[in-house]
Amino acid sequence: MIERTLVLIKPDGVQRGLVGEIISRFERCGLKIVGMKMVFADEKLAGDHYAADEAWMISVGKKQKESYAKKGIEVKETELELGSKVRDYLIKYISMSPIIALVIEGHNAIAHVRKIVGPTSPHDAQPGTIRGDFSFDSYQLADSSKRPIQNLIHASENRKEAEREINVWFTDKEIHDWKRIDEDLLYRKGK
Ligand code: ADP
Ligand code: MG
Repeated sequence: MIERTLVLIKPDGVQRGLVGEIISRFERCGLKIVGMKMVFADEKLAGDHYAADEAWMISVGKKQKESYAKKGIEVKETELELGSKVRDYLIKYISMSPIIALVIEGHNAIAHVRKIVGPTSPHDAQPGTIRGDFSFDSYQLADSSKRPIQNLIHASENRKEAEREINVWFTDKEIHDWKRIDEDLLYRKGK
């Protein structure tokens, strides 16, 4: 199933000069860039992207609690409180300096991009993933510094999120239909 997904290279990726490195990882596996631009987002746009969706904030808080529990640390705040605090950090963070927004297309692109990106906390991410190769940030380091985890990348988690997020950052005219040279081989029909 051909899908489109939204990727953002966050301020840490841009400021550390890792844009080319990161984009090349998607390109080299055959995924296709169909939209790309640099954006200096304001807090309104950042807030549209990180929408005040309760279910998502709870899932953010839940992941944090699970990570702390593995280290034997109990967190008193509710999942929603934790998630809502992270959302505030994120809005300030991604509107701090320019980011790169991309729409990436390919077979199972949403899950495949997430695999290349790795899990939320770079400390948990395997080498070979973008987050594992370029950062060692963690829940605890971010938390003690009152900032979001700096994990270089945002990537949509599922179809609904991808569709909504692509619409936040791109107009239809900014997304292009074109063909990679390797598509004939990849998507050819057997006889
Ligand atoms: P992902 O980016 O892997 O989909 P989430 O959607 O759960 O992760 O969270 C969005 C972003 O919020 C993460 O990429 C990370 O930058 C930040 N973040 C998530 N949880 C925390 C946390 N507990 N403390 C600080 N930052 C967090
Ligand atoms: Mg997410």
